[in-house]
Amino acid sequence: MGEAALDLVTRFVATLPDASAFDLTGADDLTERFREPMPSAPAAYDDVLAAIEEASLKGIDTAGPGFLGYIPAGGLIASAIAAFVGFAMNRFVNVWDAAPALAQMEATVVRWIADMFEYPADAQGILTSGGSLANFSAIVTARRTLLPDDFLAGTLYASEQTHHSVAKAAMLAGFPTRNVRLIGCTPELHIDVDELHDTVDADRRSGLQPFFICANGGTTNTGAVDPLEELVRLAHERRMWIHVDAAYGGFFQLTDRGRRALKGITGADSITLDPHKGLFIPYGTGCLLVREGSTLRDSHRVRADYMQDLAPQEINPSFSDYSPELTRDFRGLRVWVPLKLHGIDAFREALDEKLDLAQHVADRLEATDGFEVPWRPELSVVAFRYLPRAGDRDDFNTALLERINASGRVFLSSTRIGGRYMLRVCVLNHRTHADRVEECIDIITRSAAELDG
Ligand SMILES: *Cc1c(COP(=O)(O)O)cnc(C)c1O
Repeated sequence: MGEAALDLVTRFVATLPDASAFDLTGADDLTERFREPMPSAPAAYDDVLAAIEEASLKGIDTAGPGFLGYIPAGGLIASAIAAFVGFAMNRFVNVWDAAPALAQMEATVVRWIADMFEYPADAQGILTSGGSLANFSAIVTARRTLLPDDFLAGTLYASEQTHHSVAKAAMLAGFPTRNVRLIGCTPELHIDVDELHDTVDADRRSGLQPFFICANGGTTNTGAVDPLEELVRLAHERRMWIHVDAAYGGFFQLTDRGRRALKGITGADSITLDPHKGLFIPYGTGCLLVREGSTLRDSHRVRADYMQDLAPQEINPSFSDYSPELTRDFRGLRVWVPLKLHGIDAFREALDEKLDLAQHVADRLEATDGFEVPWRPELSVVAFRYLPRAGDRDDFNTALLERINASGRVFLSSTRIGGRYMLRVCVLNHRTHADRVEECIDIITRSAAELDG
């Protein structure tokens, strides 16, 4: 069974460069075939594998080098091997005593990440399913640390460019949507610190309890980084929690340019990261770091009699005491294996390459007649649009996106910034290199010329 699965994966990887980056033709028919009753008789293994392979054909090829939309994922094969071995062993890592050394591997992974941000020895962290749940636990931790049980006067602050998972996390944590204040941005799409200041002070005067600022460590729209040092200072002056959502941008901290862009992040009370973005790990691997580790535990620990044999330890903490989850998969292994196998320098170099490639896209588009690139990329996202000679700009760029993606060689996505329809190139997949980025630029410029012809 293993050999046949390995054949499938080998074939998958070998054909990735030529696979369609985006294809929905016939997807409905294909989907229909998977609406089936519960099987009563066993199927042949070959048929089961073939079904997986076939089902993977349609949609956005998020594993391939042409995936430049949204925030590209990774999918390191070393992680796939870790997952295979980890799932086959099926050990329980969320309670320390159940698998002490395996739990330590995960704790070590968290510590490695904490070290990147110069977090102190008593910092703690958890691996989550993704950035959304990391933002959720950050808000819960801040709420339980700073607010009374009756917390509905608590207000949260983020910029208009903040990822929607922050507002969602606040909602799930029990806050009415009106308690989330979305602050305006400067022309560079950084949070307007004066407006933040004024809003916090006005809220406080009206009896509310401002307690949480979420800063961006690279926005999804354009990769913009808020002025982190200033926000850390402001939050601490006002005894508020400062969280940095660095789900997209955080691992650029490994590079010199990234560290400059993220200056101040080391002062945050908590940081959201997504190894399944910036460390090229497969989906399902997020991370939350909390500077004062005990606050994370005190916000998530609940005792139960039937758990008494597995007494909580101070020295070797169980992750279940620090997170909403009890039973879960061994996430740490899929980070540990690639870091051991490749070494951190390989990741640093890969991330540096992504920064170079994004700069190159911005340079080339800026130098091409008709293109507008309003923001130099701070990390690896380039937002742009084409200004046609006539007609509606948004309509033109909608058509342009459709034409680009119809190439099947690259997949881009769009957004709206300041009311304008914009296209985005985000370079982050570990398989995306200069050749595909050149091809992408050619497809973009050619498509625009054809449409504007
Ligand atoms: C991707 C992203 C999130 C959400 O993370 P998931 O892993 O998709 O849950 C939050 N914030 C930012 C800035 C992101 O890029």
